[in-house]
Amino acid sequence: MLSYDDALHHILHHPNIIPTITTLPLSEARGFVLASDIGATTNLPAFDNSMVDGFAIGGNVTSKATIDTPLVLPITQQIRAGGTMPRPLRPAEAAQIFTGAPVPEGTYGMVMVEDTELEDTESGTFVSLREPANPKFIRKMGSDIAVGQLALSEGSVIGVGEIGLLAALNWHTILVCAKPRVGLLTTGDEIVAPSDAPLQPGQIRDANGPALRAAIEEAGGVVALQIHAQDSPESVREAFTQLQAAGCQVIISSGGVSMGEHDYVKVILEEQGTLDFWRVAIKPGKPLAFGTLRNALFFGLPGNPASSLVTFELFIRPVLRKVAGQKEILRPQITVALTQNIPHETGRREFVRCGVKEESGVFYATPTGSQGSHRLSSMIGVEGLLICHEDHGDYEKNARATLLWLR
Ligand code: AMP
Ligand code: MG
Repeated sequence: MLSYDDALHHILHHPNIIPTITTLPLSEARGFVLASDIGATTNLPAFDNSMVDGFAIGGNVTSKATIDTPLVLPITQQIRAGGTMPRPLRPAEAAQIFTGAPVPEGTYGMVMVEDTELEDTESGTFVSLREPANPKFIRKMGSDIAVGQLALSEGSVIGVGEIGLLAALNWHTILVCAKPRVGLLTTGDEIVAPSDAPLQPGQIRDANGPALRAAIEEAGGVVALQIHAQDSPESVREAFTQLQAAGCQVIISSGGVSMGEHDYVKVILEEQGTLDFWRVAIKPGKPLAFGTLRNALFFGLPGNPASSLVTFELFIRPVLRKVAGQKEILRPQITVALTQNIPHETGRREFVRCGVKEESGVFYATPTGSQGSHRLSSMIGVEGLLICHEDHGDYEKNARATLLWLR
């Protein structure tokens, strides 16, 4: 049986994991990954502008201005953001200026309005300065980013700051990696979608369909097609045909991959695509099938809900993130202290669903109850997967272990 490490390595190095590049309006680009470097084609700021509301002073003429010996200068113009372009300032002229307004040629610096007083006289309006003009109050053209500089590099995740910068640089459409298109197949004669109709004896509600759809979306994918197949070769074959036609990069099925007589997913995958491996030495999720269906990577997840969600987390989330162009595709690992004994048999790598609490710099992991792979309630409050190594036996309370941190 394949080890966890070998299975993950095989999957993540599959040649079919290729991002698709698309163009998006900036307003829809949050969370996507930039598919190209972004160079600045304009200066930021685009022109010298004022950092303050106050007065721009022509020439270095105010160095002696103090509160006790203020300097009085004539105001020759008013300059506001978005107004007409200013005239050059001659030495010993003042211009009333507002934040963001263009600084006129000849300006030495600014005095903040708080350090000034207006004086209306018959011969015009003057300003009395209690501080020398400060050149630091000029925001220089290109001081944020200059033309030709690299503003953002390929692979950056587009967040709030990136959107602001791209907008300022007038990138209103951008090249990004598209969300991976995923096909989702649930299987099982007993499975019925949630609805108002009552269940017949022996039927159960579809938990994996809704949960896997949410997991796909959370991982950055988009569900292109979601269908259900009965436990018959014809039904599974028909589902595979539809999934192949949907142009998916990844196809995920739930159920029907075990040794049961009515498990057809693996059989039909071998018939229509390739089966690279089946079964991985992990717990939960041993009966995991992996292969290809046309160009799509195919993951046959076990039907038990906790198994399917944990195997999704371990193997599919990293693939979806890689297709989406993300550089960090795996969860961070942290060392945790165990709050209770955790029984573990050697042979398989076990991923114990845990809550995580931090206290005085130590992270404590507590299992979310019994780890039966059918138990959906064990998926509630999961903040990490504690790694019980295949070569290690039981883990004791207070021991340290490694945890995949789901944050
Ligand atoms: P299977 O792998 O098809 O043998 O299924 C294993 C277990 O998972 C069985 O108890 C199924 O009833 C259950 N199961 C399969 N698919 C789903 C599903 N979509 N939602 C909830 N439980 C499921
Ligand atoms: Mg089944």
